[in-house]
Amino acid sequence: MQKGYNKLNLKKDNKYSLPVLLYHRIVNKQSVIGKHKIYVKEKDFENQLLYLKNNGYETITFYDLQKNPSVDLTKKVIITFDDGYEDNYRLLFPLLKKYNFKAVIYLVTKINFNAWGVREGEPRVNMMTDVQKKEMSDYGIEMGGHTQTHLDLSKCSESEKIKEIKGCKEDVEKLTNKTAVSFAYPFGGINEEVKRITKEAGYTFAVSTNTGPKEFGLDNFQIRRIEITPKTSLRSFKNKVSGYYFYPSFIKSFFTGKQTK
Ligand SMILES: [Zn+2]
Repeated sequence: MQKGYNKLNLKKDNKYSLPVLLYHRIVNKQSVIGKHKIYVKEKDFENQLLYLKNNGYETITFYDLQKNPSVDLTKKVIITFDDGYEDNYRLLFPLLKKYNFKAVIYLVTKINFNAWGVREGEPRVNMMTDVQKKEMSDYGIEMGGHTQTHLDLSKCSESEKIKEIKGCKEDVEKLTNKTAVSFAYPFGGINEEVKRITKEAGYTFAVSTNTGPKEFGLDNFQIRRIEITPKTSLRSFKNKVSGYYFYPSFIKSFFTGKQTK
């Protein structure tokens, strides 16, 4: 029997898959912007939230899924942010409160700035403080693990993997006083050993970048995400949250309400 999140609530032959979005930073005029384009402008992000709000979407977290595994996934979306940048508190948090939305933030627990990015020529950006992370966690934003030092897990020793994955879980739990249920692999660096250690560390879900099955629920330790970049237009965003992004032929019927074969 397939282990993991059950898809019983999904219709047969329906290619619908819960969209899990990947973001890093929200920026405005005061923000430094790096060459890696791992940001979305504040105004664009607000327009994306407005689209979700006006179209009846609900944001859920992995906590919610763990609590209620048979929840109906239609018109749901999981918004994730990697690394824990200071702008998540300064710009993301107020917008989430304004629209009554939730998100999942993946924390790097032993470095307080983007050291891995600076090594590649990115400007230095601070991470949120522990007080800010706790405040967001108390509000209902899920804090997940993203290792202690943001390294590529597919390229390190087994003992290093355990320390980075399990140690990070303990760090997050100490900070939030809640169980850390989900994990994000830095750089999308995954192999079978990395997945096994993540499972053994006690996480229930782990997200990748652009690898893993196209349908949510088939592999809870390699959940594919859909990245939102500064170039993502609102039209493209609509496709990305439709639930049929990986099956473009279904998107049309989603928007017209007509069934296609
Ligand atoms: Zn990262």
